[in-house]
Amino acid sequence: GNELLPSKYIVQTCRSKPNQAAGSVKKQTETSKEYNQQNPYIGTLLCNKRLTAEDWQQDVRHYEISLDSSMEFQPGDSLAVLPCNSTDEVMAFLKRVNIPVDTVITSIALRDPSATDSGPRSISHLTFPMTVVELFEKHIDITGTPRRYFFELLSFFASAEHEQERLLYFSSSEAQDELRVYCDREKKSVREVLEDFPSVLPPLEYILDLVPPIQPRLFSIASSWKLHPNQAQLLVAKLQFTTTLKRKRVGLCTGWMSQLQEKDSLRVWIKEGNSRFRLPEKATTPIIMIGPGTGLAPFRSFIQERTWMMRNGENLGWSSLYTGCRHRLKDWYYGDELNAAVTERSLTKYYIAFSRDEIEINNRKTYVQHLMQESSVEIWEVLRQGGFVFLSGSAQVMPQNVKDAIIEIIQREGNQSQEDAEVFFAAMERSGRFSSETWQ
Ligand SMILES: Cc1cc2nc3c(=O)[nH]c(=O)nc-3n(C[C@H](O)[C@H](O)[C@H](O)COP(=O)(O)OP(=O)(O)OC[C@H]3O[C@@H](n4cnc5c(N)ncnc54)[C@H](O)[C@@H]3O)c2cc1C
Repeated sequence: GNELLPSKYIVQTCRSKPNQAAGSVKKQTETSKEYNQQNPYIGTLLCNKRLTAEDWQQDVRHYEISLDSSMEFQPGDSLAVLPCNSTDEVMAFLKRVNIPVDTVITSIALRDPSATDSGPRSISHLTFPMTVVELFEKHIDITGTPRRYFFELLSFFASAEHEQERLLYFSSSEAQDELRVYCDREKKSVREVLEDFPSVLPPLEYILDLVPPIQPRLFSIASSWKLHPNQAQLLVAKLQFTTTLKRKRVGLCTGWMSQLQEKDSLRVWIKEGNSRFRLPEKATTPIIMIGPGTGLAPFRSFIQERTWMMRNGENLGWSSLYTGCRHRLKDWYYGDELNAAVTERSLTKYYIAFSRDEIEINNRKTYVQHLMQESSVEIWEVLRQGGFVFLSGSAQVMPQNVKDAIIEIIQREGNQSQEDAEVFFAAMERSGRFSSETWQ
C-alpha cells in the first residue's frame, strides 16, 4: 500500500556557462548581531597549525578563526562550525545521480507553501541562484550515513527488482541490526550506498528529501576573548579510524578543517555553553580543571581569562589543571604556555600524565585519575573549602574513572564512608560545583 508522495520542495534549475559553475563561500554583505545556522558568520582562518609530531598517528591542530566584534564569548562557550564537502566528493556524487555539474538552481520552494519549514532540517533560507556544486558542497550532507527512511524512499527509484527488494528489506524493522552493520559500523556515506544500488536514480527534488542538510559541529573555545579579542582558538583532533571491514574513515568537519589554508573562509557562530560550566563568580574560589587530550580546550580559555584578570589586578584563588597525552615528544600541546602560566601564577599546579611514557616507571598507563590520586590531599582541601571541579574531554570511560577517583579521595582524605562520600559528591553536582562537558 506504499505510494510515492510528492517531494517536499519544488526545484527550478537552468544551465550555466562553465565558468560560473564553481562554488565558493560568499562574502558577508551585511553584519548581524545574531549569527546562527541560517545566518552564520563568515570567519577567516588565521592559523592552522598541527600540534602533534608529523610521525604521530593522531593529527591534533590549533586553529585561530577571526570573529566580528559582536561575537564576544565567555570561557566555557563553544564555536559551531559548518563544514563543507570536498569538491571531489561532490563531483562523484553528481556524476552518480546524473546531474550535470553546470546546473544552476534558480529556486527551491516548498511544494506546500502553508507548511512550516524551519530548524536544522530546512533549506528554505538559502538564497538563489546557486550552482548545484555549491548546494552540495555547502549544504547537503552527502557524506552522512543514511537512516532507515532513506532506504524506504530510495526503493521507489530502483529499476532493478532485486535492488528494490533489498532497499525495502533494509527499511523493515527486522533488518535494523543488519542495517547497523552495513551502514553505521562502516560509516557508509549516501554516495557509497548509491554505488551499492546501481539501478537507483533519484531525481534532484527527491534527493533533497533523501539527504538532510549538513549539520554544525561544536568545538569548545580554547582561548579567552579578553586576551585574544575578535577571534576564537580551537584545539581539534582530526577524527580518523578504520572500520570493521578495514575502510579508512575521516570525520567530515575535522578532516575538512585540517586541509584549510590561512585566509580560507568558514561558517561559524557562538554556541553558549552549559550555564554551570563557567568560572566561579569570585576569582578567589579555588578550582580544579580535569581535561585530558582535547579536553584541555575549555581550560586553556579558563586559564587565559584568569591570566588577564591577574594582570588587571584581581586576586586569584588556587587552581590546578590535570591533563594528559600519550608521549612527551609526540602529542604534548601548549606545554610551554601552561608552564608560563604557572610561573606567572595564574595557574597554581599543572599536572600532566604521559600515559605511554610512564609505563616503564609505573608498570601501567598513567592517566589523569592516577595523578589525582597522587595529589589527593590537595584535592580534598579544595573540595572542603567549597571549590569547583570541572571535567572536559572526549573519552568514553574517562568521566566515570574521574568521578570514581573523586569519590575515593573524599572517602580517604575526608574519612568518610563510601555512602557519605557519594552524598558529598552528589551535593557538589547539584550545586554546580562539579560540572562536566564531554563528547564522543
Ligand atoms: C560541546 C562539545 C564540545 C566539543 N569540543 C571539541 C573540542 O574542543 N575538540 C575536538 O576535537 N572535538 C570537540 N567536540 C567534538 C566535535 O564536535 C566533533 O564531534 C568531532 O570533532 C567529530 O566531527 P567530524 O565532523 O570530524 O566527524 P563526523 O563526520 O561527524 O563523524 C563522527 C561520527 O563518526 C562515527 N564514528 C566515530 N568513530 C567511529 C568508529 N570507530 N567506528 C564507526 N563509526 C565511528 C560516529 O557515528 C560519530 O558520530 C566537541 C563536541 C561537543 C558536543
